[in-house]
Amino acid sequence: MRSLKDRISAEAIVIGTDILKVDHFLNHQVDVDFLQEIGQEFYKHFQDEPITKILTVEASGIAVAVATAMFFHVPVVFAKKSVSLNLDQETYTSEVFSFTRQTSYLMKVSSRYLNRQDHVLIIDDFLANGRAVQGMIDIIHQAGASLAGVGIVIEKGFQEGGQRLREQGIKVVSLAIIDAMDENHIQFRE
Ligand code: 5GP
Repeated sequence: MRSLKDRISAEAIVIGTDILKVDHFLNHQVDVDFLQEIGQEFYKHFQDEPITKILTVEASGIAVAVATAMFFHVPVVFAKKSVSLNLDQETYTSEVFSFTRQTSYLMKVSSRYLNRQDHVLIIDDFLANGRAVQGMIDIIHQAGASLAGVGIVIEKGFQEGGQRLREQGIKVVSLAIIDAMDENHIQFRE
């Protein structure tokens, strides 16, 4: 997506060798008009699938997932990371190693909101090593639901997540794939 790549080039900050900060429009301040364009782009790629739910993980996946769900007119379910007293007793859970926190957490979804009738599109902001997406796929399997595919705003192609998912035959649509980056330059896959 050209406008996304332009925006990453103009506004993103590279931290160390493998973290990209896009707080201007995605991860802290959210540009809702731009997110609408992103949602529409995902819709173009997955509109032929009979999607019933969009699944993401809190917190930064929620805005993109909602923007996408506006086009599909289906509910968004977001997996919770935090321990909460008001989460239902019956939950699907998966242990996920967090790339940004460098620690594991339990991803949880109430069994009320996913079941075997669901055909699910996973949406997330970033794809790095694929652990978050793999956790969501695990939860979809536990629910007996089916997976339509995975939509990612920014894939870091130099990390292994995208390749691993595609090797499993999963349709992965990433709107921008970064092949290399440092503080002076971001190289996109064409
Ligand atoms: P993975 O599970 O694929 O290793 O990492 C993906 C998750 O970590 C995403 O949900 C995203 O929130 C976070 N993440 C991974 N890499 C980055 C990054 O470079 N920048 C930001 N802002 N988040 C990232």
